[in-house]
Amino acid sequence: MKACNLHGIGDLRYEDVPDPVPGEGEVLLKVKAAGICGSDVPRVFTKGTYHFPTIPGHEFAGEIVGAGSPEDAGLVGRRAAVFPLLPCFSCGPCKDEHYASCTDYDYYGSRRDGAFAEYIAVKKWNLVFVPDGVPYEWAAMCEPCAVGIHALGRAALREGATVCIFGAGPIGLIIAQVARAQGAADVVLFDVDPKKLEFARARGFEHGFSTVEDWGGGAAAGVCVDAAGVPQTLAGCLRAAGAFGTVVLMGNPSGDMPLSQHDYWEILRKQLTLVGTWNSDYAARKNDWKQALSYMESGALDLTGFVTHSFPLADCEKAFRLARDRNEFYVKIMFSPS
Ligand SMILES: [Zn+2]
Ligand SMILES: [Zn+2]
Repeated sequence: MKACNLHGIGDLRYEDVPDPVPGEGEVLLKVKAAGICGSDVPRVFTKGTYHFPTIPGHEFAGEIVGAGSPEDAGLVGRRAAVFPLLPCFSCGPCKDEHYASCTDYDYYGSRRDGAFAEYIAVKKWNLVFVPDGVPYEWAAMCEPCAVGIHALGRAALREGATVCIFGAGPIGLIIAQVARAQGAADVVLFDVDPKKLEFARARGFEHGFSTVEDWGGGAAAGVCVDAAGVPQTLAGCLRAAGAFGTVVLMGNPSGDMPLSQHDYWEILRKQLTLVGTWNSDYAARKNDWKQALSYMESGALDLTGFVTHSFPLADCEKAFRLARDRNEFYVKIMFSPS
């Protein structure tokens, strides 16, 4: 089969690789859509993967076309998204079904081969079946949706609350939609990129600002989400939050996150709750992935227009250059291998 194989930092090659063969408890998935995640850009250009070569790609969906065990033959033909984390099932967090906190996990698309390929063999446990009517491209965005659902779930959102989201990228927009579905009266998005705010406005989120000062409604939000992870957005969250509000820290910072004394006081005086969020829940009692797909099915999550760029695998270099250089506005870049 054809795949985009990472041979070293900055050395992504479109080439022939052996066809994956599903083992016991695995199925063969024909990849129909695979998105470039923000984390794939440093993975390809600066940080690399754990070993080379590795096929990146962990946000994907496809059709089951084969099964490793005869008893799973009935799954052939079904459509599925894939939870990319392979937990150890034996550490403390795993025993509590907190798989995102597993201390010894494997991962499709970083620690082992992922989905920038025509086919991938995946464990049955990781399959999330996609309802009819939800397109593959949306199902391939199940991960950012689950991450957004999980992040908002870390705050006790009250009906009628104002929710402020700092960072209007794909996950920020997803959180905005989920907040509205969960009863937020007002959803305000902040971003320094006017194009992102324009994109949000076209999706029904008229309240977009570059700073809390521009908004003029500071100290009023019940929930603030830092979806960017830079000192300015953290400070923005603390200023926008109202008394006893919750600030969800989600954006992954690329440096220190210093706080001024003034912003620190915001936490004290308003008695704010700061919570962290990481990845998503994939437990029997709470599965953010199934929730994401059911929001897509009901229309609470509408991802129309999110895929701004679609490429065949053969154009992987071009696609990654676009993702890195940001010369063009994009929301989601997707590969459509077949
Ligand atoms: Zn991702
Ligand atoms: Zn574990």
